[in-house]
Amino acid sequence: MFPKRLKGMLDILPRESELINFIITNFEKIVKLYGFSLIRTPILEHAELFYRSTGLTSDIVNKEMYTFYDKKERLLALRPEGTPGVIRAIIEGQLSLPQRVYYLGPMFRYERPQKGRLREHYQLGLEIVGEKSPYSDFELIKIGNHFFSEINLTDTLTLVNSIGCEKCRPKFREVFLTYLKDKENLLCLDCQERKEKNPLRIFDCKQEKCQRMIKESPKVKDFLCADCQNHFNKFLSYLENSNIKYKIDENLVRGLDYYTKTTFEFISESLGEKISIGGGGRYDNLMKELGGRDAPCVGFALGLERIYYALRENKNLNYLKENRKLMIIYDCEESFSEAENLADLLRKENIPCYLNPDLENLKRQLKIADKLDIKYVIIVGEKEREKGVYLLRDMISGEQIEIKKDEIINKLKKITNV
Ligand SMILES: [Zn+2]
Ligand SMILES: [Zn+2]
Repeated sequence: MFPKRLKGMLDILPRESELINFIITNFEKIVKLYGFSLIRTPILEHAELFYRSTGLTSDIVNKEMYTFYDKKERLLALRPEGTPGVIRAIIEGQLSLPQRVYYLGPMFRYERPQKGRLREHYQLGLEIVGEKSPYSDFELIKIGNHFFSEINLTDTLTLVNSIGCEKCRPKFREVFLTYLKDKENLLCLDCQERKEKNPLRIFDCKQEKCQRMIKESPKVKDFLCADCQNHFNKFLSYLENSNIKYKIDENLVRGLDYYTKTTFEFISESLGEKISIGGGGRYDNLMKELGGRDAPCVGFALGLERIYYALRENKNLNYLKENRKLMIIYDCEESFSEAENLADLLRKENIPCYLNPDLENLKRQLKIADKLDIKYVIIVGEKEREKGVYLLRDMISGEQIEIKKDEIINKLKKITNV
């Protein structure tokens, strides 16, 4: 047996890449409008980076991280998320603050693969480093929604919450643990463990019995200190004055250790409430904890495949550029050299085209064109060469017309829209 693709890893095939590129291109276009610049960081990092940031009590580090020892016995990890590497790079690169950066690339999580949840998945992310205003939190949500409307993903809803800070959260923790007393057996096994290490994470549990348990429980949002409360109120007032569709979700805590104050999540109704297409929040302590300056940060990441599925689910694809692929075919050696000249001429005019050098009969070449989803075929034939024309065939309608050689560029420019 030949080696197959690893379970949960990702092939993006040409027929999918047009939509994928459409998503990425628009993401970059929108975030640049808000002053973000691209940052690229390695896929491989010291595992310790994630232990000390994303956190040992988070599922993605504790259960799902790909770790291994390299030849020098260093414990390395394939990054499970983008934020820690970006913050590390900003500290190491001694970048001045504030900074607004965006990233895109693969993340790895060793979990059971399911639709829209792979072991390798692409994320598009933003980080604002060194801005403390609640407007920054709001602006990220605004950017996310701007991007969604740009790609015509129209059924999104933004969920928001505040999970407080290191000053107010211990108080909530105490109240919550008191509430959970005597109810321990009603929690799932994972949550019984979470209760010891990081009880807030119980709000994240998807198990029905745990969901039932937290329904009646006290909420972190009701225990905020004055600073966190002011931040949250201001943030909500910006949302209220915008036309963004949002909902406060008191149970939204997000699964990572470093979040403070604001948390948020984007969901697409076509994928259902349980599956988010991205999310983020504020993390004011991470930079300092990783050895950098004491700088407030806020960010989010979107799952590229989730957005891809949501768009497909929405069947909103007709706004994608219409297929205008072009192929030149020919009927003999002499016609081939003319076809080659024509191909070069088209490329000079920025008109993409495909020319297959394996000479075969016209019928076979037309079949290839059909299989490749080619929209227009130019036929360079012996007879036509004598007349000084080409044949232009519309592969969808089957219509075929003669075009004078010196008119071909103008005609193609019109139909291929370059
Ligand atoms: Zn607080
Ligand atoms: Zn649970």
